[in-house]
Amino acid sequence: ATARTVIARVAPLGSRLVLALVEDRTREKRVEAVRRDFVANVSHELKTPVGAIRLLAEAVTEAADDPEAVERFASRMLTESDRLTTLVQQIIELSRLQGDDPLEAPVSVSLDDVVAAAVDTSTIDAGAKRITLVTTGDHELHVFGSLDQISAAVSNLVANAVAYSDEGSRVLVSTKALGDTAQISVVDQGIGIPAREIDRIFERFYRVDPARHRSTGGTGLGLSIVKHVAATHGGDVNVWSVEGQGSTFTLTLPLQPHALDGDGEPSGPV
Ligand code: ADP
Repeated sequence: ATARTVIARVAPLGSRLVLALVEDRTREKRVEAVRRDFVANVSHELKTPVGAIRLLAEAVTEAADDPEAVERFASRMLTESDRLTTLVQQIIELSRLQGDDPLEAPVSVSLDDVVAAAVDTSTIDAGAKRITLVTTGDHELHVFGSLDQISAAVSNLVANAVAYSDEGSRVLVSTKALGDTAQISVVDQGIGIPAREIDRIFERFYRVDPARHRSTGGTGLGLSIVKHVAATHGGDVNVWSVEGQGSTFTLTLPLQPHALDGDGEPSGPV
């Protein structure tokens, strides 16, 4: 090839390379912007409970001769510090899920165990609102992945269903095998989600009109965690909701392919 044809062949390659580098830089900038946003959001979200605890501590000091007021302020301090703990735990969890190796040492995870643990975690809150928690569907389904992550995801969905439901309603957790996937659905008869908000609820720190459910003290991180857990496991999460009637969140995860051994227990991935 003459020098000219070589240059002619290299030129488009070169411009593609430049384009790739530009795209890379743009991506890097976007990632950096998302990170900066996250840090700004985290700082802002942490300031609220820390500020509240400070104000309440001052109020306790000033109300020293009013035992009833002291008790009231102290109890609110407890609530705020619990909220702070949850927030910090969820931020750590989310940053781990966004790291390089979110699924460190995957194991066979029993969905029966996951659902039982999630229901267990919400039993007290459900009881306080006389909400009936019902489980139904297929048993002995297994997913290959992280027990902690899948438990956190399902627990978040069940806790939300209870938090955003009225007294005396019902929350159903159903587990079904569908083709080569497991579908865990959490169905509530709660306040529902306005159609215009539904695309945003999986965003970090996004809460639908916090004023309508201030008492739940949520962080806005739960569904973001659920979404990341689904993604790291090659699954998905979907929501269907009618405002004022209720919501159904369905977490879909790939079933662990397994050969049944003698005692009917899955013998691991193949
Ligand atoms: P939060 O800690 O606020 O519950 P999430 O990320 O878990 O944060 O949920 C985001 C928002 O989506 C909630 O603040 C709430 O407005 C809405 N939401 C989540 N689950 C439900 C549900 N089951 N019913 C009604 N609204 C819900």
